[in-house]
This record gives sequence, C-alpha cells and structure tokens, in this order.
Amino acid sequence: MKTALRITFSLLLICSIPSLTAFAATEEEDIERMSLYKKTATVSGIPWTYYAAIDQYERQIHDEIPEGRVTAFRPDPLFWNGIDTEPSFFPKGWGDNGDGNNKVDMTNDEDILWSLGKYLQSYGTTEQDIRIALWNYYKRDLTVQTIMNTAKVFEKFQTVSLTDRDFPVPITSNYTYHNTWGDARGFGGRRIHEGTDIFADYGVPVHSTTYGVIEMKGWNEFGGWRVGIRDIYNIYHYYAHLSGFEESKKVGDVVQPGDVIGSVGSTGYGPPGTSGKFPPHLHYGMYQDNGKNEWSFDPYPYLKRWERMVRNK
Ligand SMILES: [Zn+2]
Repeated sequence: MKTALRITFSLLLICSIPSLTAFAATEEEDIERMSLYKKTATVSGIPWTYYAAIDQYERQIHDEIPEGRVTAFRPDPLFWNGIDTEPSFFPKGWGDNGDGNNKVDMTNDEDILWSLGKYLQSYGTTEQDIRIALWNYYKRDLTVQTIMNTAKVFEKFQTVSLTDRDFPVPITSNYTYHNTWGDARGFGGRRIHEGTDIFADYGVPVHSTTYGVIEMKGWNEFGGWRVGIRDIYNIYHYYAHLSGFEESKKVGDVVQPGDVIGSVGSTGYGPPGTSGKFPPHLHYGMYQDNGKNEWSFDPYPYLKRWERMVRNK
C-alpha cells in the first residue's frame, strides 16, 4: 500500500512539473489578446483586467490553448447552454454571439468573451459583484482570490506581458545553493524537502522573484517568519526562515521582481520567535495550483535561470 502510494505520488510530480518555457506567450499573442479584452471591456463596462485575469487563470488549468484561439477560457457547457433543473446557477445559458456572424460558437474567442461579459455584468460592476460572479462560476475560494489578485497586478502594470524575474537574494551578496529538492527531512515527521535552500548571511535582503500578490505573511512552525506570494501563473512562491519582514509590504499588496520582502534569517522549527537552530538561509519553495490541487515542484532550474537573467542585465 505504502509503495503504491509513493509511486502514484512520484508519477504525479513527474507529470506535473511546469516546463521552463510553458509560461511565456509570444509578444504578438499578448497584443492580440489584450485587444480582445479591451474590446469586451468597452461594451460590458467590466474592466479589461478581469477578462485578462480569468484568461490567465484558465491558461494554467488547461494544458494548452485550443487550436485557432488566443484566449484559454473554456466555458462550462452548463454555463453556456443553461440547465433548468433546480437548484442551478445557470437556469438559462449565457452562450451568445459576440462577433456578429449570427453563430453562437463556444470555441470562438469573441463569442466567449462577450458571453462572459454579459454574465459578469448581470451581477454588477463593483469588485464585490465580480467576486460573487466568479464564485458562482468556479465555486472555489482560492480560484476567486487568485483571479482577483491577478487583475490587481494587471491593473497596476497595465499589461499582461510581465516576463521580468529576479533572483531571491542580491547576486552581489555571498550566497550558495545546491539542488536539494526532494531530500529527506527529519523534523515534524517524515517529509521531503520542498524547496531550495539559499545559504547567505543574516540580514541579506530577500527579493520577490516575480510579479504577484502577497498572500501570506507571518509565523509557521517549520518555516518560521515567512512570506507567500502568488504570481500570475498561479504559482505560490514561499520564502521561509526570514529574520524580519519588510514592514511596508502587507498581505494583498502587489509586488514586482526585486521588491524587498524581508531578510535572511534562521527562524522556525519551533514556537513563534524560535531562531538559530540551523545556519541562516532562505528556504525558497514553488507550488503550482491547477484549480483542484496544489503541489510542490523543484525551484532549482528556475533559480539558475533567473540568476543568469540578472547577471546578463
Ligand atoms: Zn529548506
């Protein structure tokens, strides 16, 4: 039983590690989808950032964008066609014709965005209205929060092309790291090491590696003082064992690569304030969410890549 479980778990990990290139869309694709979002925003009165954020989320829960399309939103057939049995969130279908060709097509970008716009608009145009509309469609708190946060990031930077990254500590500081993802860990029962340890001195500033929103900030038994940031790719970045936080950064704040979020320390493995049980280092973890589950994957290749990016700037 135990072996079978372990094999299943390992397979899951192997199958679900995002590829290094999967995250980037081409510049032309970005321009094309931006113009679709903005067009739909103009007719619906719902800011383009929400269409962009919903699409961005759907890009991560599906493996690929359907042939011939630039957006990834695949309407639930019940949402599109309606179902009149009670109880139902979609008594009438929302599928409608948005591109003026007299055909309602649930594989057409413009028809889909137009229909989504009508649905959102039926709840109202405030942030709270949109939140409720999203909840009734996805019925999952983390999904709603992720979409709302991604919209905030797009709003701040006024683009979906957010490809810049940073290394989590200044590359001019003294640091070392090795690929230790998956190593056994003793404290707190049998678990594996879900991250990369970057050894550096106490107080070295810790940078956000991505664009995103601070989702978590506080104490955790294993991680000590830690910050969690979710990026626009629905990846949760976990920064642990910090000696302190950047006070100006709060939960819900938008961050960008290079923003200081705290400093390297050795907190954790005990009650709040425990420190010094191991040498100072930043534990950096990455977790992918697919709309149903969240799993850890190896940050090491990404760290290597971002380190090179920063060196080549
Ligand atoms: Zn670690």
